[in-house]
Amino acid sequence: MGGAADPDTGGGTGPRPYRRIACEEGFLSPAVLAANARTSVAGIPLITADGPAAGLARLLVDVGPGRIARMDAAGVDVQLLLLASPGVQVFDRETAVALAADANDWAADACARFPARLAALTAIAPQDPVAAARELERGVSRLSMKGALVNSHTFGEYLDQRTFWPIFEAAEALDAPIYIHPCEPPAGMREIMAGPVAGGPAWAYGVEVGTHVLRLIGGGVFDRFPRLRIVVGHMGESLPFWLPRIDNRYLAMRGAMFGGARPMQRLPSDYIRENLWITTSGMNYWPQLRMTLEVLAPDRVLYAGDDPFEDQAEAVDFIEAMPLSVEQKTALFQDNAVRLFGL
Ligand code: MN
Repeated sequence: MGGAADPDTGGGTGPRPYRRIACEEGFLSPAVLAANARTSVAGIPLITADGPAAGLARLLVDVGPGRIARMDAAGVDVQLLLLASPGVQVFDRETAVALAADANDWAADACARFPARLAALTAIAPQDPVAAARELERGVSRLSMKGALVNSHTFGEYLDQRTFWPIFEAAEALDAPIYIHPCEPPAGMREIMAGPVAGGPAWAYGVEVGTHVLRLIGGGVFDRFPRLRIVVGHMGESLPFWLPRIDNRYLAMRGAMFGGARPMQRLPSDYIRENLWITTSGMNYWPQLRMTLEVLAPDRVLYAGDDPFEDQAEAVDFIEAMPLSVEQKTALFQDNAVRLFGL
């Protein structure tokens, strides 16, 4: 673990002129953890303090010295905290709104204790779009949070639905990016994307979030909110790879299959290039990283370790070992995150 052995050097090639900022790092508030134990949602596993993921639960609720020590060991300077999936999006409206506010207070407290090491996104409850917009405003304006977190669909509903647009209105007004993080797909999708290969994080989660982004595009969200900034993890949830085909099949087939529907003003790839930022979380592969840097742009790709679900030291070491210049690493680890999230 190069980062652990020598935290002041970048890949062992001399002093490192950048901070390593990790942009998709999980945490849980004690209240959400406790609520998970009282809740059961068919087909959606929830992390509890004494369930099969108890070890993970301990790491997720630690936003104190223990987490900082693990960051030090991995060579990570800053973690951007996201309320771990599915966050508050499995609870009834009133519970979700209250738990989001409590989680934000809890995370803001941790960030205030370690201002140089921790930052956080505002957890919101899409179950109540107006309250979610208000909470985002509170998070950004009063708690110094860096944007919003949505753990993808809420009971099978997606943000392209107009009832959710108060959230986009607030995000655009606040210039706050919205991170769409995976969760267990809704029931219909889960029936098909099942098992350890097609289901779960191996495939289903990424496809579900990629689908969420395409729904926003097709729903005209970016025509209505052209300055909206959406962030997704896992090297773009497959979107960079599919980009040319999404455009050419949309153009060729929308007449034959969709009655000529032209739901938005521009090509799908225009919105992906202009309104989407991506992080590397859990995709430690050079061909995918190189392609994504080429297909999007170097200033659209940010580093993430997905701690504690993945090994953050391994992720740091992967980037450090890649044939990237110091300038490229500075953009990937630091500058893009500073610009996007105002860190
Ligand atoms: Mn994650």
